[in-house]
Amino acid sequence: MNHDPDMVSDAERKMQFLYALRSKGVTDKTVLEAMEAIDRGPFIRGLFAGRAYEDMPLPIACGQTISQPSVVGLMTQALQITPRDKVLEIGTGSGYQAAILSKLARRVYTIDRHRRLVQEARTVFEALDLNNITAITADGSFGLPEQAPFDRIIVTAAAEDPPGPLLAQLKEGGIMVLPVGQSDAVQHLIRVRKTADGLEYDEMRAVRFVPLLEGLGKDT
Ligand code: SAH
Repeated sequence: MNHDPDMVSDAERKMQFLYALRSKGVTDKTVLEAMEAIDRGPFIRGLFAGRAYEDMPLPIACGQTISQPSVVGLMTQALQITPRDKVLEIGTGSGYQAAILSKLARRVYTIDRHRRLVQEARTVFEALDLNNITAITADGSFGLPEQAPFDRIIVTAAAEDPPGPLLAQLKEGGIMVLPVGQSDAVQHLIRVRKTADGLEYDEMRAVRFVPLLEGLGKDT
């Protein structure tokens, strides 16, 4: 038995984590189940590992960040993923978002410009037996033409406008969710739906993401 009042049990921590998600608007049952199934701990290494269950963005390797869980939840919810979907993520980072997508979709492709992040994320996917994710090192602004079109696309780095190749690789009836805006100013999450008549945009909340950069990254 644990009598130390400062020690919070795993079950309590999980309940607090899910409560924080719900209170910030993540209400979709399948999304909450996926987020309950994927432990954020293994995606965070080093100094910040102990803070994995707080609703905060945290630093990861290569000067990047793992997103705030409630933002991951809201973006995932906005994608309205169905079990047959093929999903493309730009910005693998820690791999946490891709792991959640993998619980909801048939197939997930995730791209990052940092080889080291892609390699580390692959190791976690293997350890967690997430076999429907393919992680690729590339400049994701160009999408993944050989696997297009995609039912859903999520970008987890901010561009000034939705990249043209990604819009082109979205299936008709498909949904894309991404932050747009300048990297040093307020960005907004937007949802783009591709219909027979063209693109429909709606704006969600203000956010702050690292910028979508050109070319491959120098690993640090
Ligand atoms: N989804 C991640 C968080 C992403 S942070 C997670 O769940 O942890 C944003 C990531 O986008 C960074 O890892 C950065 O390297 C990557 N990135 C930025 N520009 C990119 C580009 N053009 N192509 C691919 N990845 C890019």
